[in-house]
Amino acid sequence: MFHIYCPYCEEYREEEEFHAKGQAHLARPADPEACSDEQWGDYLFFRDNPRGIHHELWVHAIGCRKFFNITRNTVTYDIYETYKIGESPRFTAEHPEGKPDEQVAAEKVAAEAEAVSRQEGVKA
Ligand SMILES: [Zn+2]
Repeated sequence: MFHIYCPYCEEYREEEEFHAKGQAHLARPADPEACSDEQWGDYLFFRDNPRGIHHELWVHAIGCRKFFNITRNTVTYDIYETYKIGESPRFTAEHPEGKPDEQVAAEKVAAEAEAVSRQEGVKA
């Protein structure tokens, strides 16, 4: 038994409360009609299977029932971090020791600005 940190509940909970839902950060093509069969098939069926750092979508099924992301090492099974949907991971294949604080802060500002512009687009 081990514990996973839920970024919404803001506490560690037993692993049995969670379910893995596959690869994280999959973006649905904006215009599916414009995709080739190969592009659409890649989106639907093909996933990365890296050795090392991997980002996964998980759900806190017996808890807040919210989806979030986990950065996990597929070799050691270590969980490096959990983060909310829309946030960027600190640990990536390019930054296995973690991104510098300045880069994380800049990405957070950019994500918030994008969220605001999306909201304004909805109102218009
Ligand atoms: Zn939760």
